[in-house]
Amino acid sequence: MPPASTCLFCRIVDGEVNAATVFESDDVLGFLDHAPVFPGHVLLVPKVHHATLTDLPSALLTPLFEASQRVARAVAAAVEADGTWVSMNNVVSQSVPHLHVHVVPRRRKDGLRGFYWPRTKYASVDEMAEMAVRIKTALG
Ligand code: AMP
Repeated sequence: MPPASTCLFCRIVDGEVNAATVFESDDVLGFLDHAPVFPGHVLLVPKVHHATLTDLPSALLTPLFEASQRVARAVAAAVEADGTWVSMNNVVSQSVPHLHVHVVPRRRKDGLRGFYWPRTKYASVDEMAEMAVRIKTALG
């Protein structure tokens, strides 16, 4: 985890780096992604530095998810989108190691279908069942 002084999103929370803020609560800040997938793309971050979802204290889950729901609704209304894509990279493809939820407006036929979510198949029903067991075992 980088020290707060060198974390870009901590610096945005602290007001040291400018951002187009759209949402603020006690625990969460939301601002426009400066390189949006589509205009209106918002990033929501916990104000306190946590790197990934698995690092987030459970007390912050509800504030962050509530903010995601509110902002998803607002983004869709603001740009008259058909829906939204709400997502989070954790470590892999995560370019800023401060947890952030992407809220991206989506429209039918906007070109993203299949691009971010290439699908594979389980070789058999047994292989799928084995995977379910592995995850349930990891859940404990
Ligand atoms: P990820 O690749 O999932 O870690 O997403 C990081 C996001 O942060 C990218 O979509 C970037 O465009 C965005 N980003 C990086 N720096 C800034 C900044 N200074 N202001 C707003 N968005 C940023």
